[in-house]
Amino acid sequence: MKSSTEKSSTPEEQEPTEDNIVAAMEMVAENIEPTIGKTTGAEDDQTATKQVLIRATERDRDRWKEAADSKGISLSEFVRNLCNAAADEILDCNHPLEMRIAYPWSERCMACGHRFH
Ligand SMILES: [Zn+2]
Repeated sequence: MKSSTEKSSTPEEQEPTEDNIVAAMEMVAENIEPTIGKTTGAEDDQTATKQVLIRATERDRDRWKEAADSKGISLSEFVRNLCNAAADEILDCNHPLEMRIAYPWSERCMACGHRFH
């Protein structure tokens, strides 16, 4: 009955259910699949050292895998590409340059408040 000393994490990560283990095993299996002849983002694969466990329905997972296969990339790369695109859209400013106001020390978008450097 020792209390957890792990740093707090999201509820999603705090439930070490069998589902997560199965998913993790599947992701590992995914990563060791032979990729001969496939044009994967080798550079990304080398630097992509963090694992993200997510839950998905079997149907979703199967469809993601099918889509990834049809593009000739791994499921990891498929998910990574989409997440990167979504994160870029959310985090990065896509407003026109006219919306930016420049100070000597920085530049700022007046539409979303994003600061550049
Ligand atoms: Zn903006």
